[in-house]
Amino acid sequence: MNNYEPPIFELSGPGKIGANLPRLDVPQAELPQALLRDDGLPGIPELTETEVTRHFTRISQRNFCIDTGMYPLGSCTMKYNPKVHEEAARLPGFAFAHPMQPEAQSQGALELMYGLQNYLAELSGFDQVSLQPAAGAQGEFTGVLVFRAYHLDRGDTERNEILVPDSAHGTNPATAAMVGMKVVEVKSGPRGNCSIEDLKAKLGPHTAGLMLTNPNTLGLFEQNIQEIARLVHEAGGLMYGDGANFNAILGIVKPRDVGFDFMHYNLHKTFTTPHGGGGPGSGAVGCTKELAPYMPAPVADKDGDRYYFRTPEKSIGRVKSFWGNFGMLVRAWAYIRTLGAAGLKEVSDNAVLNANYIRVRLQHVYPVAYDRTCMHEVVLKGQLKEAPQARTLDIAKRLIDYGFHPPTVYFPISVPEALMIEPTETESKRNLDAFCDAMLKIAQEAAEDINILKNAPTTAPVRRLDEVGAARKPILTYDRARFRELRGEHEHATPDDQLTVPSY
Ligand SMILES: *Cc1c(COP(=O)(O)O)cnc(C)c1O
Repeated sequence: MNNYEPPIFELSGPGKIGANLPRLDVPQAELPQALLRDDGLPGIPELTETEVTRHFTRISQRNFCIDTGMYPLGSCTMKYNPKVHEEAARLPGFAFAHPMQPEAQSQGALELMYGLQNYLAELSGFDQVSLQPAAGAQGEFTGVLVFRAYHLDRGDTERNEILVPDSAHGTNPATAAMVGMKVVEVKSGPRGNCSIEDLKAKLGPHTAGLMLTNPNTLGLFEQNIQEIARLVHEAGGLMYGDGANFNAILGIVKPRDVGFDFMHYNLHKTFTTPHGGGGPGSGAVGCTKELAPYMPAPVADKDGDRYYFRTPEKSIGRVKSFWGNFGMLVRAWAYIRTLGAAGLKEVSDNAVLNANYIRVRLQHVYPVAYDRTCMHEVVLKGQLKEAPQARTLDIAKRLIDYGFHPPTVYFPISVPEALMIEPTETESKRNLDAFCDAMLKIAQEAAEDINILKNAPTTAPVRRLDEVGAARKPILTYDRARFRELRGEHEHATPDDQLTVPSY
């Protein structure tokens, strides 16, 4: 490969330096002996500034990102992040605010948090919002903690089960289990919704709550939501709303109105703050007034024209340091203010329209998991009539050659060979068509010569990797000899071969 970029250790050379420090103008002092390492230099690579800049810039250009192309990763809502948010988040008053500054000096930041809490409350119908959790998963963890606190506070001590539908995102059962709950799975019915029969069978005196995503992770609206909520409430349980799919219903459905007691919002999905390599995100949470006393601290509040932080009376405590991921809050606030109420509804209208456009263009070649109008995402199956050897993974890898990030694959696990496509509202018809054309072309290629798919990707910096091996037997330390062996290179002695490489 000619555009191969070696690890930074391979670029190192003894004595190379990237920083120009001023001449020492104070007397030199020896470091205390106790602070010196006895095994010499720590093995940090030695490079010039030019080399460092080029190395990282080259690597950054390998990244597929929303600024370079369409990223139809289902359930992730990879929409475009408007650049005006970056301006807002970088305003010195926000960017340099210190979380330990007194409230009197933080009134602007507090006002923004208070405003955002209210906007999110208005969109969902809830009474109290906390901006603390750093991601959707942490919002879920927070919600289950709040459910537990609520039940225990009422002397209802036997509620230790959380019901989770089989189509749910893995974070739902994981977070419930982290709180110490027993996870009980609820099956899906033939139309891709939660089975009422199975739900009834699993509800009981141990039910702490049901975690439900609506629209669900099959991209389908849970039409029986009000009946589901009634059944759960009658059994003494609470309704947790996984708000990851909020992008489909902004300004159309308020989760509170259909029976949810608590939900998380993924600001990095619905509200266009960057996902940023697994963080920082924001998983703000909202709830009814019955649950408000248990919310995590602090919440922003207002007394006359003074803003302040308040700890709810029976708060579960803190789930994140300081004020949550504040930069994300500024971006989400800017997004909501830019679009306004009508604009937010239009977001959902267009997100749903775009997904259905893709569904209709592709469903005659890629079977749909559930043959009905979808919401903001569509789940297809990579089972091609004309090419039975093709797998969803092959189709996903071939899409890379056509310049698209693959959709979510093999999730939800209840759908075999799932291809879960979420275009979002920020893609133009031209891009949607280019994506559909690529998908149809791939199906045609698969029928003509399956090796085209099996060998993909061919244009990416690396070819198909052993993904299972990488997950099951990861090599986490850099071993130069092994690295070269894997690349089929000969070891030849160069001066910096003596470099010691740290193992982490
Ligand atoms: C993304 C997602 C989550 C988890 O949210 P994070 O912010 O990634 O922690 C939970 N449920 C669903 C349905 C999701 O799509």
